[in-house]
Amino acid sequence: MKLEKDSYENIIENLHDGLYCVDRDKVITYWNNAAEQISGFTADEVVGKSCSDNILTHVDSDGNNLCARMCPIDATIADGKPREAEVYIHNKNGHRIPVSIRVSKLTDKDGNIIGGIELFSDISYQAANELRVIELEKLALLDNLTQLANRNYIEREVQSIFEEYKRFNVQFGILFMDIDHFKNVNDNYGHDVGDDVLKFVASTFTTNARPFDCYGRWGGDEFIGIIRNIDVKDLKILGDRLRLMIENSYIIHENEKLYVTISVGASIVNENDTIDSLIKRADTLLYKSKESGRNNLTID
Ligand code: GH3
Ligand code: MG
Repeated sequence: MKLEKDSYENIIENLHDGLYCVDRDKVITYWNNAAEQISGFTADEVVGKSCSDNILTHVDSDGNNLCARMCPIDATIADGKPREAEVYIHNKNGHRIPVSIRVSKLTDKDGNIIGGIELFSDISYQAANELRVIELEKLALLDNLTQLANRNYIEREVQSIFEEYKRFNVQFGILFMDIDHFKNVNDNYGHDVGDDVLKFVASTFTTNARPFDCYGRWGGDEFIGIIRNIDVKDLKILGDRLRLMIENSYIIHENEKLYVTISVGASIVNENDTIDSLIKRADTLLYKSKESGRNNLTID
């Protein structure tokens, strides 16, 4: 299929990307619809003017004006090589717009460079999205090492389940768990093996979790389980099951089986509780399990 010249012009005119052409002196010779829309300048306002004439004024992310010394079109006209960059252009109204630009040479039928062509697309949305991703990463709710909920997330989750308890009296319990003598693992086998142990303990929780329960890493070698809709008896059964499962599992390091145990403090929410008092009580019960010899569960 061979397209007529009019069809090409039509396509170029209606491209989603801004497109303009300049001659060797960087005088604008062509300016499409999208270039008008993105920049605010009409073809009538710019064709015949030099593009460095305060029209698009490309700047980099540090605010350096690229037109004077680092103009990508200049460079492409000089060496013929295509270029891509992310820069900011000035909209006619003055605000800066992030754009992704692609520059190529324009040649005559003998291959001589007679100018340049620049395609530019508005990446405001993409730039905003990238910022949002960074924000979300800062807010990130996952613990990177174990892929469990992090402390931030657990705090939100406890708050939400606590409100549910206050409003609808749905009981819940907390399991506060800490690996016994974990420092010895780090000291004897190194930090990386310590990390593997943390991951293994975490995965024991997740693979045994009921759908509505939430396990998270509180910090270091401490973990919290938030267990919905449970009474004292079943919380003890669940906590002991996790404890025994860890006691009887191992990771293999250089052909050696490494075992660890955990101590657990378990508590059910009561009507006098605040979020802090509940977590504190579970923590104190955990401490009692440590005092009584570790690999234990204490419940109240
Ligand atoms: P205890 O039985 O009393 O809990 O003794 P412990 O040795 O486990 O003591 P503690 O809980 O205080 O030790 C926590 C250790 O966990 C100390 C710290 O160096 C280590 N740790 C904290 N975060 C990480 C981590 O991300 N990776 C590794 N490998 N170690 C960590
Ligand atoms: Mg510990």
